[in-house]
Amino acid sequence: ASLFADVEVAPAIEVFALTAKYNEDTFAEKVNLGVGAYRTDDGKPWVLPVVRNAESQMAADLTLNHEYLPVAGLPAYREAAIRLLLGDGHPVVVENKVEGIQTLGGTGALRLAAEFLKQMLKKDVVYVSNPTWGNHRGIFKAAGYSQIKEYRYWDAANRSLDLKGMLEDLKNSPDNSVVILHTCAHNPTGTDPTEDQWKQIIDVCQERKMFLLMDCAYQGFASGDLDKDAFAVRYIASRGIEFFVAQSFSKNFGLYNERTGNLSIITNSPDVKLRVRTQCELIVRKMWSNPSNHGARVVATVLNNPALYDEWKQQVLIMANRIKLMRQLLYEKLRSLGTPGTWEHVIKQIGMFSFTGLSLRQVENMMNKHHIYLLKEGRINMCALTTKNVEYVANAIHDSVI
Ligand code: PMP
Repeated sequence: ASLFADVEVAPAIEVFALTAKYNEDTFAEKVNLGVGAYRTDDGKPWVLPVVRNAESQMAADLTLNHEYLPVAGLPAYREAAIRLLLGDGHPVVVENKVEGIQTLGGTGALRLAAEFLKQMLKKDVVYVSNPTWGNHRGIFKAAGYSQIKEYRYWDAANRSLDLKGMLEDLKNSPDNSVVILHTCAHNPTGTDPTEDQWKQIIDVCQERKMFLLMDCAYQGFASGDLDKDAFAVRYIASRGIEFFVAQSFSKNFGLYNERTGNLSIITNSPDVKLRVRTQCELIVRKMWSNPSNHGARVVATVLNNPALYDEWKQQVLIMANRIKLMRQLLYEKLRSLGTPGTWEHVIKQIGMFSFTGLSLRQVENMMNKHHIYLLKEGRINMCALTTKNVEYVANAIHDSVI
C-alpha cells in the first residue's frame, strides 16, 4: 500500500479542465471562451512587440546575470509599478509613504496580503464580491481565515451592479473585516461602479473600518486608458486611507507565465512603510524566498523608458479596442438573429469578460452540442472571439437560448 493511499483525487480546477477538454476536442470550429487570456483576431496568443523589444535589449545586455533578486524584488520594477498605479508625482509617493513588494503574479500579491493581514493585524474575516474571481476564496481559506463572506454585487435581473445590496452587506460587516474590491474590469461581471458609486462604497468601508485590498489585474483593459482605470485606487489614496493593492501584469503585458505581480502598500508615514515592508519580507522569505526576474525586468525596462512606455500604451489600447469590437459584433449578430432576451449587457460590460446570463443548461448546450467551452457561471472571454468565429458563437448562443 502507498503512503498516499488515503489521498483522494482533487476536484478539477474548472478553467484548466476546460482548456484540457478543448485541446482534446477534434471538432474544427471549436472555441475556447474559458481561460482569461488575450487572443489576436487569428485566435493566437500575442507577445506584445514592446515586450519582444525589451527582451532583445535584455538579451544583449551582458551586465545582466542570474543572481538572486532582493527578497522584495527588483527596485526599478516596484517603483515603476507604483507610478503606473498612482500616477506621476502622487503626494503619497512624493512623501515616501508607498512601498512595493514584487510577487508571483497578482495571485502572489493577494496571498502575501492575506498572510500579512492575518499574521500582523489578526484579520480573520474577508469579504468578496458575489460573484468574484474563483481564487479569492481559496487564497484566503489557505491563509487560515475563518470566514469568507460575500457582499452582493451583481443584479442578475437587471444585469447591472447591485449597489444597494452591496452597501447594505458592507454596512452589516463585523468590525475590522478585510474587503477585496476589483479596481476595474470586474471579473467575471465586466461591471464597475461609477466614480460617484465608488465614493459611496469607500464611505461605508471607512465607516465599518474595513481594510481595503484592491485587486488590480486589468489596468488598461476597462477603458483602454491606464489612468482612468486607476481611478478607484487614486481616489482612495487621495482620502489618506492606508490600504493594499494587488497588481498583476499578466494581462496588460501579456506576461501570464512570467508571474509578474506587485503588492503596493500605501501607508501614512515612511516609518510605517518600513515596518510593513520588512515584515512582508519575512513572510516572502518563507513562501518563495525571492521572486523571479524576467517578467519584472521586462516591465521595468518598458515603464522606465518613455519611448517604450508610449509604445506599450498603444498596444494596451489595441487589445482594449479589439475587445470592444468583438462586443459590438457579437451584439449585432445576436440582434440580427432575433435571439430572445436583451443583449445590451454585452456592449455595456467592460474589460476582458462578458457575464452572459446563460444558464447552466444553456452553457452545457454550448459545450456539448457546439464545442464552445465556457465557465459554468456563463462568463465568456471576449478576446477569444474573432471576426472569423463570432458568427458561429452567436448562432450557438441563439440555439442554446431558444
Ligand atoms: N485577480 C483577478 C480578478 C484575476 O482575474 C486574476 C487573473 N485571472 C488575478 C487576480 C491573478 O492574476 P495572476 O495571473 O497575475 O496571478
